[in-house]
Amino acid sequence: MTASLTTTDQETSEIISINPATLEELGRFPITPASEVNAAVARARAAAREWGARSYRNRARYILKLRRALYDRQNEIINIVSDETGKPPFEALSTEVFPAADLMSHYATKSEKILRDERFTLAVFRNKRSMIVSEPLGVVAVISPWNFPFSIPTGGVVMALMAGNTVVLKPSEFTPMVADAIRRLFAAAGFPEGVFQIVQGDGSTGAALVDSAVDKIFFTGSVRTGRRIAEAAAKRLLPVVLELGGKDPMIVCHDAPFERTVKGAVWGAFANCGQVCASVERLYVVEPVAEKFISAVVDEVKRLRVGPPAGCETDIGPLVNENQLNIVSDHVRDAVAKGARVLAGGRRREDLGGYFFEPTVLTDVNNSMKVMTEETFGPVLPIMVVKDEEEAIREANNTSYGLLASVWTSDNERGRRIARRIEAGTVIINDALYTHGAAQTPWFGVKESGTGVTHGRAGLFEFVRMKHVNWDLLPMKSNWWWFPYTDRWYGRFKTLMKVLYRWGLRKIA
Ligand code: NAD
Repeated sequence: MTASLTTTDQETSEIISINPATLEELGRFPITPASEVNAAVARARAAAREWGARSYRNRARYILKLRRALYDRQNEIINIVSDETGKPPFEALSTEVFPAADLMSHYATKSEKILRDERFTLAVFRNKRSMIVSEPLGVVAVISPWNFPFSIPTGGVVMALMAGNTVVLKPSEFTPMVADAIRRLFAAAGFPEGVFQIVQGDGSTGAALVDSAVDKIFFTGSVRTGRRIAEAAAKRLLPVVLELGGKDPMIVCHDAPFERTVKGAVWGAFANCGQVCASVERLYVVEPVAEKFISAVVDEVKRLRVGPPAGCETDIGPLVNENQLNIVSDHVRDAVAKGARVLAGGRRREDLGGYFFEPTVLTDVNNSMKVMTEETFGPVLPIMVVKDEEEAIREANNTSYGLLASVWTSDNERGRRIARRIEAGTVIINDALYTHGAAQTPWFGVKESGTGVTHGRAGLFEFVRMKHVNWDLLPMKSNWWWFPYTDRWYGRFKTLMKVLYRWGLRKIA
């Protein structure tokens, strides 16, 4: 049984929430019909002017109330996230609740400083002054995936709200319980009517939101859906942020700190059962250290505890749904058929009941295999032995994705040198995944991994429209470049060209 719609009629259908560890039904939620999506956007529009006119301090008070509600209800949220996704409670806390609280603190306290007016003097037009003002966009649509069903949507919503927008959120159809917990949290924080709303449903509800009268779409999800949204938005020149998938490489240099690199590879590949956009999906280790490294990784993987989330007694939960299980099984089967060796795992754990798959390590992999070219999004770590760092860099860049990469070395200088040559939004030295959870650091993909930024300063600027205001310090009767055009001013313009030219030369020299 997978999360599915009970009927195909959009007006009456429901989403069924399934616990992927037990396959038990957790609850049902009515799908928001397209007409109600439009009504929600209209309510958000009506609330936008008043919310956008409030001070940052006033908006921050609501976000801090939200953070308080999260603090008070953290156990409830952890349990719901764990039940609906199968992730261990440790990860529900460390990768969902904690980063969301960090993000709320960060933007509640820093948004005013980041978005404050910026004034400057113009180099040539000495009598002129300029100012950049950041204004809210109006209504923002946030469309989110199931793999971090709490931290990703709340992150996007909080940034949009702090920037002065109202928000309509369309969460994943696979995690409606978590979405409903988010709704209750916002209700507890007492946001004014229409400032934050949720519409529940599958892709068709998301498509209805994309087609509605929103001002921007903040989307996190697969490349396939991202492309569809970009196409739909392009028809109306609607701006989009697309945070998409990855096939993230990990490069292990000859001087990598051994124990840390082994443990880092295992956590980076198998946290959240490998269902992270920034999971280690391809590992390149240089020949001199490969044998010892692979053997230690395999030992570590065999120690991982797989099972339904139960306190801190399990490390790896199930995949979120049958579709993910099928993709993972298919990628492993394809790799084995093409000559890969399974050093650990490799099979579904039917004995555990839910969508469990053993943490799997593969070697002797090559680029004809899906596991090296397509996003697997599951507990599979393919390891390729390479001659040297040059080959590792070449292979790391040999992909249509470009989200995150990691370089493991005892020499930070070497790490930074390699980082500059990797085609990815983020390169982490001697760590994996974690910067998505740090509100201060920007997160974005290059190539097919997306467009636009979330988090950091740049992430907040995605939720505002810039306005440029320009004025005279001492207004004169006329500007010299206005009518009537005269030979005298033509000559002065020519002199100015000369000055500009010499000044430019001096600056560069
Ligand atoms: P998905 O693309 O299937 O769905 C994401 C959301 O889009 C869901 O809410 C879905 O209902 C909605 N949707 C589907 N079709 C739509 C349409 N036509 N119009 C509007 N909305 C539509 O992705 P998923 O399976 O939920 O999530 C997994 C993917 O997300 C992976 O590829 C992963 O790498 C990626 N991801 C990326 C990041 C990042 O920061 N770059 C973070 C998390 C996940």
